[in-house]
Amino acid sequence: MKPYVYIAHPIPSKVEAYIAEHCEYKIWNEANEKIPKGQLKEELKSADGAILTGYDVDEALLADTEKLKVVSTVSVGYNRYDTAALKKHNVYGTHTPHVLDETVADLIFGLVLSGGRRIAELHEYVKGGHWGEEPDSAFYGYDIHQRTLGIIGMGRIGEKIAKRARFGFDMAIRYYNRSRKPEMEEKYDAVRLELDELLKQADFVVLIVPLTDDTYQLIGQRELELMKSSAVLINGARGPVVDEDAVVQALKNETIFSAALDVFEKEPLPSDHPLLSLRNVTLTPHIGSATRNTDESMMMRAAENMVQGAYGKTPKDVVKELR
Ligand code: NAP
Repeated sequence: MKPYVYIAHPIPSKVEAYIAEHCEYKIWNEANEKIPKGQLKEELKSADGAILTGYDVDEALLADTEKLKVVSTVSVGYNRYDTAALKKHNVYGTHTPHVLDETVADLIFGLVLSGGRRIAELHEYVKGGHWGEEPDSAFYGYDIHQRTLGIIGMGRIGEKIAKRARFGFDMAIRYYNRSRKPEMEEKYDAVRLELDELLKQADFVVLIVPLTDDTYQLIGQRELELMKSSAVLINGARGPVVDEDAVVQALKNETIFSAALDVFEKEPLPSDHPLLSLRNVTLTPHIGSATRNTDESMMMRAAENMVQGAYGKTPKDVVKELR
């Protein structure tokens, strides 16, 4: 008998065909509406596996599951997994590393460029029909090439950002990371620094660490004040890695030059959020890994992990806390 799995959001037909080959399944097919938590709990009672991107996988969700062996998320970040609860219920938690590294690095580099050269701001200016109203010099930004990039989190994606910066833009690479990365130092002339020193030296500060208790609000008012007034802050990690109120204040006061943010404390960003009324910020809707090329590969990888787990095998991409 095939195992039974539940998928909590729409998936491409190729991925559905793969799941159908191996499992009995049910899909929540509403793209714009999440399944209510109570209903999800009911659905999981009889499931052997599930794909649950964007849901808190915690004790409350897992308490009544009887057969569940694996939950899979279509993302590399898994801060919504309560790994202690997963361990307690003997459920594998998986994610999708590797397949999205280059894609996320592309978007982050876009944010670096927009933050430095004010691309989003100037786009608004031209689209608003204002071109010519102010002298061009009012819109000068900062060069990207041959300047200093500080990467906070030199992991899989951090490396791809370093590669673009070093070989594409001839930038000097500084990094802050829990462990030392000698290979990155060799390949990209990267120099490991303490956080404060990186913040003082970097022209562009990129956040690409996982959200954990240790990285929660890693960047707050004190850290922003250490940065150069010409510096750009790029957050491609998770919203709560920065203190959002402090970032708003720093942008208002021009403590830093600009920010470019793909992730936020509350997503979607509320329509009255103060970031929306600021000039010196580029905002994207948590889209780092999502392109027409990468989306299906991530979904397929998540499906493979779920199918492996549902059959009682160890999935390929179990998160490190549960290996
Ligand atoms: P990764 O390969 O695990 O890299 C994370 C790096 O952060 C590792 O080098 C790790 O150091 C370091 N790190 C972890 N905790 C730290 C701490 N407290 N202090 C300093 N360094 C720390 O992960 P990845 O695949 O590059 O992804 C990183 C994060 O990017 C994800 O967790 C996710 O939140 C975010 N992300 C966002 C998007 C988006 O759409 N915006 C897309 C993909 C990923 P060690 O090597 O010493 O463990």
